[in-house]
Amino acid sequence: MIFKTRFAPSPTGPLHLGHAYSAMLAHDLAEAEDGQFLLRIEDIDRSRSRAHWEDQIYDDLQWLGLRWPEPVLRQSDRLVAYDKALDELWTRGLLYPCTCNRKDIAAAASAPQEGVPLHGPDGIVYPGTCRAKWQPKLADGPRPKDIPLRLDMAVAGKFLLNAAQADAVVGSFQEDGAGPNGETGAIAFTLDELTETIGDVVLSRRDMGTSYHLSVVLDDAAQGITHVIRGQDLFEATRIHVVLQVLLGLPTPRYLHHRLIRDDAGKRLAKRDDARAISKYRAEGATPVGIRALVGL
Ligand code: GLU
Repeated sequence: MIFKTRFAPSPTGPLHLGHAYSAMLAHDLAEAEDGQFLLRIEDIDRSRSRAHWEDQIYDDLQWLGLRWPEPVLRQSDRLVAYDKALDELWTRGLLYPCTCNRKDIAAAASAPQEGVPLHGPDGIVYPGTCRAKWQPKLADGPRPKDIPLRLDMAVAGKFLLNAAQADAVVGSFQEDGAGPNGETGAIAFTLDELTETIGDVVLSRRDMGTSYHLSVVLDDAAQGITHVIRGQDLFEATRIHVVLQVLLGLPTPRYLHHRLIRDDAGKRLAKRDDARAISKYRAEGATPVGIRALVGL
């Protein structure tokens, strides 16, 4: 099996040193394994994606010395595949529509009987308000398109585990790097952990018709990715990705979550940290070798 990895930036701002580290690490590892390094443009957020940021991504990565096969996959060209997967999940009764906004969720999650709201990979763990109101018989009808859809994690658990036993392992993946708390090796999780620490995540967002989680899983499979190399900030989301892979009958790649590049105050870099933008270093006369040294490669 050929080693295949990818770098998957969103064209919503300039690439910074953290992106450079992630992309170069993946490129180096693919080269060392005689494998393939792919570039994928994650532009499902149409309100924030810009063509000029996409152009800048190609330009910065080429300047860093990275090469990838063409054509580059762009998520905005994959909406039909995302639709198909959502239809399948809908038909199997795994999704329900949700009309809550952020304020509703925060209020319901911090209601006195709920205690302190728990935070998962997508923010507050959804307290299930719309699930409780949901009439499953409607799942026989067509999937609603203009409303967010959540994955019913308890129902998903039943698909993952034939006889649902809440304390049994429902999924696992191989971590070749480490999570934020040093988690490494075989990472297994139970249905209880999923429902308590992740909950019913949104798989179809109102103005995207998909979500990061669904798209990334479908695209990694469609591109035959064997090794996902990405920042530690996505370690927690990996359990969601494994659940979706199992539900949709897709292979689970190996994962390598790497350390995050931080600023002098120890804060992880964000798109708005223009000071760390690769383009800024370039304009100031930095070299690709200098960038490597800066990020410790
Ligand atoms: N598009 C994501 C980002 O820019 C990365 C997705 C991934 O590597 O799984 O943070």
